[in-house]
Amino acid sequence: MPSRYKYHELMPEIGREGQKRISQAAVAVIGLGALGSTCSMLLARAGVGRLILFEDDKVELSNLQRQLLYSEADIGKSKAELAKRALHRANSEVVIKAVPQKLSKINIKLLLKGDVDLVADCTDNLMARFVLNDFCVKNKLPLVHAACLAAQGQVFCIMPNRACFRCLFEGATAGITPKQAGVLNSCPAATAALQASQILRILTGKEPVNGLIRVDVWRCEVTRIEVKKNTKCKACGNK
Ligand SMILES: [Zn+2]
Repeated sequence: MPSRYKYHELMPEIGREGQKRISQAAVAVIGLGALGSTCSMLLARAGVGRLILFEDDKVELSNLQRQLLYSEADIGKSKAELAKRALHRANSEVVIKAVPQKLSKINIKLLLKGDVDLVADCTDNLMARFVLNDFCVKNKLPLVHAACLAAQGQVFCIMPNRACFRCLFEGATAGITPKQAGVLNSCPAATAALQASQILRILTGKEPVNGLIRVDVWRCEVTRIEVKKNTKCKACGNK
């Protein structure tokens, strides 16, 4: 029988063994805006065994410009439930749990190792990113962060024993947000594609690329900045 994942299996980077690992993995996607839409859709189509989707928001008209999971008929409805349905339509083999809640110190425990192998940070605020970082570092869970502003995106893979989000952004302030600066709709699509690639790389047992990946989709520039572990980091220092 032809495999649904033939085109991944043909790649030496993945192969049948890698595809098997992907199908046995569980990934939590936190945030189902523009990044989370594309990231979760790529992971579902790649055949990730289980997906847990966190999002408490409802669809608004201004989301449709870049949030690829939703349509006009969805305005006012829960993103988590809509996403679950859309991803299931794309791949019914994937077991999907929708959590239509804001990530909190209580429900974050759904992300404990054993239940989840990796966390995708598709949130839209600094506080949630720090909460996720600290939890994943403490529980030795790989975390793949992504963020976008205007035409610029970034991806950062936080692995046990590597630099964490706090090593890089401790002391950062919220600064200018997408609500002020806008978002070019291709930017989260491109950034989430880079994020999903690194996630698949980790799920197949390989190390993700090191450092902070930055992309400017308007200027067509991709750069990678080396990030050193801060030995005094509150989350990962001296561990
Ligand atoms: Zn750190």
